[in-house]
This record gives sequence, structure tokens and C-alpha cells, in this order.
Amino acid sequence: MRICAIDHVGIAVRSIEEGVKIYETLGIRFTGVEDVPEQKVKTAFLPVGETEIELLESTAPDSPVAKFLETRGEGIHHIALRVDDIDEVLKELKEAGVRLIDQEPRYGAGGARIAFVHPKATGGVLIELAERGDAPEREGGSR
Ligand code: ZN
Repeated sequence: MRICAIDHVGIAVRSIEEGVKIYETLGIRFTGVEDVPEQKVKTAFLPVGETEIELLESTAPDSPVAKFLETRGEGIHHIALRVDDIDEVLKELKEAGVRLIDQEPRYGAGGARIAFVHPKATGGVLIELAERGDAPEREGGSR
């Protein structure tokens, strides 16, 4: 299993527009918004060096991000670790008996293949595994 980098940090916000303003105040430029219907969120990416801040705004009242905002309010939602082979990583985690939210990879923002590890298995931190392929450019895209 190879973890290559912290791919991004996901932050739940009530409004991407408001969230973007905060980071622009810090001199971090945002590169575009993407809808991820599969996760019922709208995401905005703000590159910081080799990694990114991902703002998440819910697009449906029953989305995981909406539930997060309801119970915990705005703040850090997940940390995404970039892996070179998500199928291999998931297989190893299953063999090790690690509780997963996603048994199989699915598609996330930027065309990445992603899977979430259950926070009960990681001391309360929601960890996303992300494998980046040759994803098509995001709108106004950063890669
Ligand atoms: Zn993410």
C-alpha cells in the first residue's frame, strides 16, 4: 500500500461563495466549482502548493455533508490521502479488517477514484482515499 501525499483537506461549508471569500482573504485562489451529484455536493478547490483545500456545500438535505453540518457545524470534514492504487489499498484494508464506508471505489470530484474509510476505524477522522488518474480538466481546472 502506498500513500503518496495528502491530496486535499475537505471542509464543510454552508456556502461555497462565503467559504471562498475566507480563503481568498488568506491569498489562496480558487480554481473552479464542480458538482458531484453522486455525493450530493458542490465542491470548490483551492490549491495550496501540492495539495488543495476542498470546500463542500451540500446540494440536498439528505446528503452526508448536510448531516455533518447539522450535527457538527462548519469545519474540517475529511482528509484525503492520495494513493497510487486504490483497489490494492482497499483490498489490504479489508484483509486487515478495517471498517470501510465504501467497499468499492467510486468517482469523486476531478474524476478521481475515491473511497471513504469509516471514522470509527480511524479515531474519529473521516479519511478519503483518492487515486488520481488522467482526469479531464476541471472547469477552470487546477490540473
Ligand atoms: Zn474530498
